[in-house]
Amino acid sequence: MTAFENRRILVVSPHADDAALSCAGLLALADSTILTVMGGVANGDAPSAWDAACGFTHPREAAQTREQEDRAAAETLGCALERLRLIDASYLGRAHDEADRAALRTAVDAWIQAEYLDRGTRRWRPVVAIPVGAGLRMTRPVRARGRKDAPETTQAASAGVSPWSRGLQLILAPLRRIKHRAYVRRKRTLQARGLLAHSDHAFVRDVLLEHLFLRDDVDLLLYEELPYLWHQQGDAEASRLADEIGFTASEISWGVDSTFKTEAVGKYSSQLKHLDPQSRRLESKETLPIFERGWWVRWPRTMDGSGM
Ligand SMILES: [Zn+2]
Repeated sequence: MTAFENRRILVVSPHADDAALSCAGLLALADSTILTVMGGVANGDAPSAWDAACGFTHPREAAQTREQEDRAAAETLGCALERLRLIDASYLGRAHDEADRAALRTAVDAWIQAEYLDRGTRRWRPVVAIPVGAGLRMTRPVRARGRKDAPETTQAASAGVSPWSRGLQLILAPLRRIKHRAYVRRKRTLQARGLLAHSDHAFVRDVLLEHLFLRDDVDLLLYEELPYLWHQQGDAEASRLADEIGFTASEISWGVDSTFKTEAVGKYSSQLKHLDPQSRRLESKETLPIFERGWWVRWPRTMDGSGM
């Protein structure tokens, strides 16, 4: 595959299994590195619902097993592995903060810098591959309004500027609760239908799209995540991002040896069967897709690089 020949590739994997599941074929095409982002051990003694469903009784046990699986998979894939210690969304209970964003940016910059210091005969830019955010989505206006409304409500209530305003809050509070319950119901309905796009994937993608915006020292690739793509493919999300940020999304696919991929993803045995519990398609070479897909991020040449 000429698009990746004589290049180095960094696949940024939000969780321990995303790179192998989504990019095993890509990783095999070049001198590659996986950067696993959510590799930290959560505080506390109780496993998340997901880790409990996978049979773990303690967050540390889950994290240690996942790290061992990650190292075994990287060895099978024949690529380097780097790991950050961020905590995944199922334990965090809040949005990722600036320290998390900085750690991710620093790790990617360090990889790019190391690539340029050890370039040898390579002439093409290195490739950084990040998740596109495939999977079922809640409608955007519901989430966007919810985020903006919350701080305003808190400020008005704490300021207590007038009885009218307090009265209005009293009237609005039950309506907000109804709206929130409707949101939770809708989310549960969607989850029953399939996998929702993961917030950790969106976090990784958005931080790096912003950080690598208009950069000409790397080629950026949005990869489509398995098994999320079985529930909703990444095309609409790639188009939305291209429209909102201002780049051209150029689709590309590459083949994958399904025997090789089955062996690599099989290393993540603690959670593989739970990711597709009905059909168990991730565990057999007959049912794993024989190609993988992504979108090149092509920045417009005429933009001045002043930022997003
Ligand atoms: Zn993931």
